Amino acid sequence: MPKQDITVLKENDLLEIFDDLPAYRIKQIFQWLWTKNITSFDEFTNLPKSLREALDNQFYLPELTVKNSQKAKDGTVKVAFELSDNQLIEGVLIPDGKRVTACISSQVGCNVGCRFCATGKMGFSRNLSVGEIVFQVKQLNTLAEKTYNHHLSNIVFMGMGEPLLNYQNTMRAATILTTPEGLNMSPQRITVSTVGIVPKIRQMADEGVKFNLAVSLHTASDKIRNSLIPVNQSFPLSKLQEAIKYFYTKTGNRVTLEYLLMKGVNDSDKDVRELAAFTKAFPCKINVIEYNPVEGLNFQRPEKDRFDKFVDFLKSRNLIVMVRRSRGKDIDAACGQLATKINAGNS
Ligand code: SF4
Repeated sequence: MPKQDITVLKENDLLEIFDDLPAYRIKQIFQWLWTKNITSFDEFTNLPKSLREALDNQFYLPELTVKNSQKAKDGTVKVAFELSDNQLIEGVLIPDGKRVTACISSQVGCNVGCRFCATGKMGFSRNLSVGEIVFQVKQLNTLAEKTYNHHLSNIVFMGMGEPLLNYQNTMRAATILTTPEGLNMSPQRITVSTVGIVPKIRQMADEGVKFNLAVSLHTASDKIRNSLIPVNQSFPLSKLQEAIKYFYTKTGNRVTLEYLLMKGVNDSDKDVRELAAFTKAFPCKINVIEYNPVEGLNFQRPEKDRFDKFVDFLKSRNLIVMVRRSRGKDIDAACGQLATKINAGNS
């Protein structure tokens, strides 16, 4: 039988497989998995050798090797990790004063196909396992400590992939990161970002998750959204609006709307009025983001005046607006860019 990724299993599964093993041994295994940066079962030194061998015979540990990393002038660091099957994913560290945010991947590639996104061009390969997500964060945390002398303060699932299309693994990994064995982070410091997978937003609400939810809205017009984000045809704005409202009602958590401002696409006076109208249904925060141009894609950021006018209009409507300037402009910081280049042999 081929070996299995051990992080796919939960404590009960391992107890069933090793039914003569005391529960504390199973706990030790998971402590090793989530607490340390380990690469082999041999490093589980408080387990008997026979158990380490038994684990090694049946399972493997997720592997993430740094294939490439780039540091921008503004301190942003982008890392391409190679997985055990030679696939590539990306993680980004974004320092901001005393805060360091890790932007992490949940899938290899993505099948949502947003027109403005480098990852969308790659297509979808597979979901990341729970362990691959947690190990990615642990490696980024170690790198943050080395680079900025500061551990991670925030995590956003905003790298490669649509996290709500890898729902179980994303939620379990995020939960592990909130435990003492993980990074002991407050769930309020973890944000799951989606393009709007409506049934999964509702599921998050029903499960009462404590993580933040961000929705990449990018326009409040169905016509424009259908052309930018193909899943809008399955989950149009009216359904998305209802789901966000439902999430807020159930969890009490204000949703963040992400709005990537693109010249001549979604930056007009009409666009901003439609956005303001869309937000009337629920309390929210709006992040207006400067577009990071992607090679081969025909989208640009608007002129500064247009950008400011857009933001000022939202503020005049008493909306909570944050401006997110593009980070890492001198590196391949947009999601999917670095992996695409490495895959093409350009890096
Ligand atoms: S923006 Fe997100 S959901 Fe859309 S294609 Fe890129 S990775 Fe996928």
